[in-house]
Formats: sequence, structure tokens, C-alpha cells
Amino acid sequence: MTDPSPLARALDTKTEALIALTQQLIQIPTLNPPGENYREICELLDRRLRGHGFDTQLIRAHGTPGDSEKYPRWNIVARREGRSAGDCVHFNSHIDVVEVGAGWTMDPFAGTLRDGKIYGRGACDMKGGLAASIIAAETFIEHHPDFCGAIEISGTADEESGGYGGVAYLAEQGFFDPARVQHVIIPEPLHKDRICLGHRGGWWAEIETKGEIAHGSMPFLGDCAVRHMGAVLSEFESKLFPAMAARRTDMPVVPEGARQSTMNINSIHGGQNEPAPGFDGLPSHCVPDSCRIVIDRRFLAEESLDEVRAEVTALLEGLRASRADFRYELTELNSVLPSMTDKSAPVVQTIAAAITDVLGKAPEYVASPGTYDQKHIDRIGKLKNCIAYGPGLLELAHKPDEYVGVDDMIDSAKVMGKALETLLVGPH
Ligand SMILES: [Zn+2]
Repeated sequence: MTDPSPLARALDTKTEALIALTQQLIQIPTLNPPGENYREICELLDRRLRGHGFDTQLIRAHGTPGDSEKYPRWNIVARREGRSAGDCVHFNSHIDVVEVGAGWTMDPFAGTLRDGKIYGRGACDMKGGLAASIIAAETFIEHHPDFCGAIEISGTADEESGGYGGVAYLAEQGFFDPARVQHVIIPEPLHKDRICLGHRGGWWAEIETKGEIAHGSMPFLGDCAVRHMGAVLSEFESKLFPAMAARRTDMPVVPEGARQSTMNINSIHGGQNEPAPGFDGLPSHCVPDSCRIVIDRRFLAEESLDEVRAEVTALLEGLRASRADFRYELTELNSVLPSMTDKSAPVVQTIAAAITDVLGKAPEYVASPGTYDQKHIDRIGKLKNCIAYGPGLLELAHKPDEYVGVDDMIDSAKVMGKALETLLVGPH
């Protein structure tokens, strides 16, 4: 480890400010769904960043999924121009958090500080990362008021539900045009010594098998859609799952188990609806005429979306050819392509050098099993120079008693500050 730079030493004195900002962010419950208090958290960020010389825009993603007068999808983009021309470095954090869930021993919206950890829903995913990037940028500007280029900080909606009212919307408006922004760092909780280069793809679909309703005492007079679905599941078990397990990727996905293709069967439903709440009578006797499953197929950079689709369709078509009266309908729900930033990209090289400098060790390169907002910056924004880098342990995300370590936030703020020096001031 090299001697701490003046910027790193200054960041050590910002611990109290960093804790306070993280707590303020946690204390605004931005639960998604339904998307609560987005305006309130954007206003807090607006006041904060305008106070540090940023120009700010509050942008509502009108008409995106979930946007309504009651739950408007607000985003903030803040930009601080340097003294002369140069690259723009953009830190993007999502402002939404997932539901609280059971099992908490702490108040999920108090932001309690205990033994060097700040607890709360969103502490790790990813209000701690947002706070670290703000403190890093503010401290950098104090030390280098005449930097070149620009710094942007965005707080965006709806990452937890696909990012359509957040980064996707901003990317469609041109905010991630490579002519405007050159480097993007997403402070998702991948940990302070890891660089996340990208993520696997996803394909979500509903499969319905069809039957014919009849009296349950004479099933031969109908056609049981649940038995047809049983045949589908049996094809998945005997063919699809083993084929996926045999497919390995060069993507450095963590955890290790996700370094192959995977599929989750998200739900299954067949026959009569669940009884209405409060009804405790018996079901009537019917042969089910419909059975539906939702599949969640995660795929690798080495696979194409067309192949993924075709593999499932081929199994279903095989059943149509071999099984009497087999009828099905496949409805695609959503898809996301894999995204992988090249290790030689400038933002990767810069953060890697900064990690080595600040932490005295080489970074670990990883990829995420699930997707995050990089997909929109890559596919809609057409900006390839993007990574996730931020404090916090991924395993804690969405769990009870989620926390972020204060030391980890300070360390990653030092890495971010060092990266800003490299990109906007040049090496010292
Ligand atoms: Zn997140």
C-alpha cells in the first residue's frame, strides 16, 4: 500500500458526514413496489448536491410501469462542470429498496449505527454506495476545484423492478449518450475490492398447457391440463436442466454456482382458482382446462437469446408431436441480454489501479448472476465503459438486518476519489 494521498486523508475526516448522509437516505423509505417517497429522496439529494455546486435536474419518468400521480417515478441527475473540457465520470445509484420482509431485529428505517455498521433496508443495496460516491465527489472537488471534465451523480428509480422508470428512461432521453458521459460507475454492493464487469442475461416466459373441463369423476371425458404440464416438467428435468448444467461460462460470475445456465420455475398454477379469502368450503370436482408456469431462465454471454428461446420451444414442439392432444401457449414476459465490459476498458483499468493503490491488493473481477442497470446503459445508452463498484456485501442485499460497514464505505470512497483524480486530473 502506498502512503495515503491528501485526498485519502481528507476522506478519513469525513466519516461523520458519511454516516449522517447514509442515515438520512435510509430514513426515507423508498419501498418498491409501489415506489414510495422517490420525490422526497430526490429533493434531499437535490439540496445536498446543489450545495456543492452541482446543477440538478429532477426528471419524472412519465408513463413508465408503475408511474402514477400517487407513485410518480422521480429521478435526479446532478452535474458539476470542471474548469476545462474533459471526460465526464457518472456515478449511478438506484434510490429504491425492496420490501422489508420478516426477521428484523433492528428498525429497518432508523439507520442505526452499531459497532461500525449502519443498519437498515437499503443500507447495503445501495444507499451506502450512493452516500460513498457523493462524499468521494464532494471531497475530490474540494481538493481539485480546477479539475477537467465533469462529474455526474444520479439517483434513479425502480432498479429493483427492472429500471424502466429509472436508468432505462434516462438512457432513452440521451443521458447516457457516450458523447455526453464517458465513464459510468454503479456503486452496487459488490464489495470494495471487486470490480463487477457485467451480468448474465434473463428470459422470462409463461407457458400454459391447455385441456378440457369435465366432471372430475369421469376425467376421460375431459383433458387434464395439469398432466400435460407434468409432461413439460418431466422434459425439463430429463433434458433441459442437465443440458444447462453442462454449459459453463468464461464470465467470472459469483457465486460459483451461477457460472452455468440456470432456470427457476417461478410459479405454477392449474385448475380452479385458490378459494376466496374467508371461504372454507370444499372445491368442486373438475378436470382442469388450464395450467400455467412462469419460467425465469438466466443465460450466459456464450448463449444467444434466440437459442435460449428455441431450446424451450423445441421441447414443447416435441411434446406436441409425441403426446396426444398436447396444446400449449408460450407468452414471453421480458428479456435482458447479458452485458460484459471489457477488462481493458478505461473505467476498469482506473478502478483496478485505484483498488491496488488504496487497499494494497489486486482487485477481483466478477460478474453478477442477476441483472442490474448496466443493461440499459449498455443497450439503450450504447455506453460500454461501465462497471459496478461499491461497498457492501452482496449476500446481505434484500435480507433482514441488512447493513453496510462504515470502514468499507470510506475505503470505497477513497477508491472512487482516486479514480476521479486519474480520470479528471491525471496521475500525481
Ligand atoms: Zn441494488
